Amino acid sequence: MDCIFCKIIDGEIPSTKLYEDEGFVVIKDINPQAPVHLLIIPKRHYSTLVDCNDSEILGGLVDVAKRVATEEGLSDRGFRLVVNTNEEGGQTVFHLHMHLLAGRSLSGRMG
Ligand code: 5GP
Ligand code: ZN
Repeated sequence: MDCIFCKIIDGEIPSTKLYEDEGFVVIKDINPQAPVHLLIIPKRHYSTLVDCNDSEILGGLVDVAKRVATEEGLSDRGFRLVVNTNEEGGQTVFHLHMHLLAGRSLSGRMG
């Protein structure tokens, strides 16, 4: 399948991986929107959040995000989790993923 994130998961496209387990990888975003900008990506391909009804994967996204935020020392200062979904949601890569943003004040507008 012609999917950037599947290629990253398979190692065909290089990335900076911070975490990996059976179900997920966490990489640095190539175009960071905050000092810390990570992507939590399920290894299984779902195009969007709407296409995924697997509660283990949906819960796992948040579990992995929390774990990495804690490991990176971000949990006390704070961070933001975002899942852009479909066109008006701002999604550009159609392989389900969650953004973890941190490292500066993210208060203010959400959209
Ligand atoms: P979306 O807009 O779909 O929610 O987020 C896609 C994200 O993937 C964007 O923040 C974009 O910078 C990031 N991205 C796109 N292509 C690559 C890539 O090849 N490598 C990495 N590490 N991030 C990518
Ligand atoms: Zn994919």
